[in-house]
Order: sequence, then structure tokens, then C-alpha cells
Amino acid sequence: MQTYTTQMDAARKGIVTPQMETVAKKEYRTVEEIRQLVAEGKVAIPANKHHECLNPEGIGSMLRTKINVNLGVSRDCKDYSIEMQKVMSAVNMGAEAIMDLSSHGNTQPFRQKLTHECPVMIGTVPVYDSVIHYQRDLATLTAQDFIDVVRLHAEDGVDFVTLHCGITRKTIEQIRKHKRKMNIVSRGGSLVFAWMCMTGNENPFYEHFDEILDICEEHDVTISLGDACRPGCLADATDVCQIEELVRLGELTKRAWAHNVQVMVEGPGHVPLNQVAANMEIQKTICMGAPFYVLGPLVTDIAPGYDHITAAIGGAVAAMSGAAFLCYVTPAEHLALPNVDDVKQGIVASKIAAHAADIAKGIPHARDIDDKMGDARRVLDWDAQFACALDPETAKAIRDARLPEDDHSDTCSMCGKFCAVRSMNKALAGEYIDIL
Ligand code: SF4
Repeated sequence: MQTYTTQMDAARKGIVTPQMETVAKKEYRTVEEIRQLVAEGKVAIPANKHHECLNPEGIGSMLRTKINVNLGVSRDCKDYSIEMQKVMSAVNMGAEAIMDLSSHGNTQPFRQKLTHECPVMIGTVPVYDSVIHYQRDLATLTAQDFIDVVRLHAEDGVDFVTLHCGITRKTIEQIRKHKRKMNIVSRGGSLVFAWMCMTGNENPFYEHFDEILDICEEHDVTISLGDACRPGCLADATDVCQIEELVRLGELTKRAWAHNVQVMVEGPGHVPLNQVAANMEIQKTICMGAPFYVLGPLVTDIAPGYDHITAAIGGAVAAMSGAAFLCYVTPAEHLALPNVDDVKQGIVASKIAAHAADIAKGIPHARDIDDKMGDARRVLDWDAQFACALDPETAKAIRDARLPEDDHSDTCSMCGKFCAVRSMNKALAGEYIDIL
């Protein structure tokens, strides 16, 4: 008989859950350490009670950095089988979470398929789904309609929901007064903002936060507090709108924790590289160490087609400075719905950022695989190098397509017989070094 509601409730009662045990094992921590961190809200284990095939993960700045992959059909790309193919390749490539951002058709079967078959954390943004679910225009929806969709997603087994609770009617004035270059670029945030403007009502996710907490507590859904005012260009970074919303997210974090509901806080956005670490510090202080989930950050605005790189640079610095969870960005960002190859590029870039940060943070055993790679490179063992590679398929394809003409087993075609590794191995072994 389960005597707790959420992972946080269990942790506070001194109960170690099976999910905490799994996380402790994966992170080389004791279960007591994990329990304590979950009790304090510094680690979230998003694990909806109905997501039975979940292989749980912990999200916290002192743990391995996790990455999320956004997928889902849209009106212009509505093939669910292609989307499922992307999901499975994302899971195989090491994504720890999938956010289903579907905004077309009957979204429930795909969502349920994810929570029935997918072992990684599943997140959604219920406000996107509200218009689709009711097939009614935004202005005609009521606050209760939005909350009922949160309940539907919770019953369907999603592990975390992004809710844009932090903007209020005051934000409307602020956006008008402060004249941001890019206004609001969060899709969910813009919908909530537009609904408030059209109806004259307060943000339903803010006004009815207690009812939402009841739903999340019942099903153990983690709230990812959305940052509607995340900067959409460098000029808007760390401005009044962003920080004012963050202060409200800090207050909501406290209210959620009082309900034993786990929380993550979402963050920027487009941020100059020199402001990334400061943004992490501000969040940690205002939100009392709640795990920070960042969207990028993108450190320049001028690289459409390469924004997976822009985001990986910001993501590495963010994670090294305290972010716990990175939302991937693909080369198609700002341009189109990502295809299968874009998804792969985005995941690889994000995994590199997360891994680089984990090494810098001294996460236990994070560097083991790099040390193995160093050993494999020293002895020019190509198969062992591929085995250590983040993307073995690509590494092998590049080498195989351009093998050195005269010696296939030894060097690569970059330096051929001038190979420094080969020369050193031979010199240290007292062997003759043939170059010509
Ligand atoms: S040939 Fe050059 S690049 Fe290739 S393994 Fe040797 S040193 Fe490295």
C-alpha cells in the first residue's frame, strides 16, 4: 500500500521510493543523498504514477545534466509515424526526456503511445493542446477548459507539464511599457498573453494554481514553470520582464513545494555568453535551488541553420554554472519543423554540451569514457574509438570514406605516415619510423 502522493512527499516522510533507488544507482550517489535532495526540491524525479514503463531520472544541478528533445506533429508535418521514428531515435541517442508539442489533429493517441511505450520522461505543454482538444478558438476557452486539459495530460501519464503561470495582467503593461525588441517568443506564453488580452481575465494557470497543484499532487506530475518572457534576442536578455517573471516563479515554486509538488523552472532563451553564468546564479537564488531547465541559451542571434551550435555553447556554460536540464535546439530552429536529421544534429550538440559541463562540474565518472577514448587513440584502435564515440555511425562513416591509401589499419588520412601518434608509439618502442 503506497503511503505517499509524490516523490517529494515520500522523500519528506523519509521513504525511499524505487525511483530514488534507480536514480541513486545511475548517479553514483547514496539513496539517502537522493532522498534528501528530492525532499529539499533540489532534485526532481518526474515520474507520473501512470507512466509504468518509465526508467526514471533525477534532474538537479549536482547530477548528470539531462537533455530534452521537443517533438510532435504540426499542421504542416502531420505524420505520426515519422514523429514516432524521431522519438525512438532520440531515445537511442541518449535523450532523457521527450516533450510532445503536438499542435494538430487528435493528440491523445500519440501522447498515450508515448507514456505506454517510451522509457524516458514525457513532458507536454497543455496550453498548446487546449485549442486542438476543444477545436475552438482561443478566446472562447474558459479557465476551467485549460485546467481540464492539464488533468487530461496528468491522467494520460505525462511526467511533467510546462505551465506559463508566471505572467499576469501586470505583464501586459510591462511588455507595453518596456518595449522589448522581440516581445514574447514563448509559444505557450504568447497564447496565455493573447488569451488574457482578448478576455480581460487573469492568467488561468496563475489564478487557479492551487487547483492545478491538486491535480499534479494526485498523479505526481512535476510542474515545469514556463518562462513566457524568456528573451527572444540578445537585446532583451536579463531585462525587467524576464526577471520580474522569475521572481513570480520563485513564489510559485514555494507554493508547489508546500503541496509536495515537484518543480523545475524554465529559463532563457537568447543570452549573451557573458550573462549566462549570472542568469544561473540569479535563478538559483530566487528559486531556492529548484532545478533549472534552460532553452539554449543561444549566445548569438545570427546563426539560423546552425543554432544547435549556438545553443550548445550557451548550454555548456549554463550547465557548468548550475542548469540541470538542457532543451535541445536543432539546425531548423527559427526556420522549420526539424526533420529526422535535424533532430539527430540537435541531440548530438546538446549531448556534447551536457557532457562537457558534467566533466567541468566533476560529476562522478563523467570523464571515464573520455579517458577510454584517450587510451584507444593512443594505440590507434579504431573500433575502440568508435565504441567510445557519441555518434559511432558518423565517426566510422567519415573514416571509412577517406581511409589512407597505403595503410588501412594504422593512421588516418589526415596526416598519413606523418601521424604523430604512430611516430611516438614507434619512437618509444625503439622502432624505425618510415615516413616516405
Ligand atoms: S594521422 Fe593525424 S589525425 Fe590521424 S590519428 Fe594520426 S595524428 Fe591523429
